[in-house]
Amino acid sequence: MTVRVRIAPSPTGNLHIGTARTAVFNWLFARHHGGKFILRIEDTDNERSRPEYTENILQGLQWLGLNWDEGPIFQTQRLELYRQAIQTLLDKGLAYPCYASEAELEEMRSAQKAKKQAPRYDNRHRNLTAEEKAAFEAEGRKPVIRFKIDDNREIVWNDLVRGQVTWKGRDLGGDMVIARASQTEAFGQPLYNLAVVVDDIDMQISHVIRGEDHIANTAKQILLYEALAANIPEFAHTPLILNQEGRKLSKRDGVTSIGDFQNLGFVAPAMANYMTLLGWTPPDSTKEIFSLSEAAKEFSLERVNKAGAKFDWAKLDWINSQYIHQLPIEVLVEMLIPYWEQTGYKVDLASDRPWLEELTRLIAPSLTRLADAITESRLLFGETVEYSEDARSQLKNEQVAEVLETVVEAVEKAEELTQADAQQLIKDVTKTHKVKKGLVMRSLRAGLMGEMQGPDLMQSWLLLNKKGLDRIRLRQALTLIS
Ligand code: GLU
Repeated sequence: MTVRVRIAPSPTGNLHIGTARTAVFNWLFARHHGGKFILRIEDTDNERSRPEYTENILQGLQWLGLNWDEGPIFQTQRLELYRQAIQTLLDKGLAYPCYASEAELEEMRSAQKAKKQAPRYDNRHRNLTAEEKAAFEAEGRKPVIRFKIDDNREIVWNDLVRGQVTWKGRDLGGDMVIARASQTEAFGQPLYNLAVVVDDIDMQISHVIRGEDHIANTAKQILLYEALAANIPEFAHTPLILNQEGRKLSKRDGVTSIGDFQNLGFVAPAMANYMTLLGWTPPDSTKEIFSLSEAAKEFSLERVNKAGAKFDWAKLDWINSQYIHQLPIEVLVEMLIPYWEQTGYKVDLASDRPWLEELTRLIAPSLTRLADAITESRLLFGETVEYSEDARSQLKNEQVAEVLETVVEAVEKAEELTQADAQQLIKDVTKTHKVKKGLVMRSLRAGLMGEMQGPDLMQSWLLLNKKGLDRIRLRQALTLIS
């Protein structure tokens, strides 16, 4: 059998982490079996679908490296196919027009609620006579199309993640709507379950791998496959992604779209790596860092967990830092530039590149997310600095003024400092003023950086020196002291 799987996002929002993780599993499964990974955009919901969401979804999948083999296929371009299937079901007597008005349905549901019953459609129009139909038509009612669901049916499938799953027909809410009403045609817009089944048949999907929130849909869809006399694919329902409280990760958790993670400074291979571990355990369970292609070699649905996958920020951060730390500096600097620019740090791309690379080398070991570069390099941008309480009190110590005066004079005389020059200068100053090296270093840190904590002092000084910022800042510190 040729493996053909799909990811079928609805463009009603930006690419969500749950959809992206489902895409990862489908991609891994396809690549493992040398099959095809197909992208289908489920855009039949006119009111909620937006082209910018489609754009965001395509970009997000590309960014993650989840290249697709076919598509994007848009459901709105395939309406005729769904129409034909609906007609087939009507012709076979497996579907029928239902004229119940919204008010009647509401009344039905309230009655059920009063009797403490689960809300369901009571199949009231399943067996209308031709006269009854004509009477409703004469009233001007426009029917939806409902697909018959036998209450006594038991739907059983062998789920590749969850094992045998059984659903009772009577738990599916009564005959289901497969097409909306239309003012001009016999029926209108097809609904989700119908369109999905028609597409999955047409695209010869062999395995439907999707989130466990679709389990009830699968039961309904199996009935549709049977009604359309089509082969039923294998199903695999992947666990939900849970937040720290163990509830389904939702918009309320703040960061949920792939773009959000990107903006926070997670790099694509780390994100893909982490999502692979959200519900899947590699055969060597100690292995945590791998590329998508490496994971594809070992991927199997048997090793996808049934239980929900708790989102673990600490682990994602750790994985991200592993990827960042092994990036070549020339690559990393490119990734940091946008963060500096967005923050308003002055970056002159034409002349600053070597300097930015050195800065990147300095801060790289302390980066967990790319956005950390903003704080980590904050003290190295800008002519003047704000002095913290600690820095101010350091500057007020005895002999600090004379020490810094000597340093700044030497700096002003010199061209550009090398590491050796700077070290020699510190030695000389220590001797001249008969002070401890510690005092010189702390005073330099206070004067140059304005804070007593921060990146390596010597490296920072050399970076500032390259831009002539050290003299400006030391003069500023001296003004503060006097
Ligand atoms: N459009 C559905 C969703 O975004 C996809 C469901 C499916 O994979 O069948 O949830």
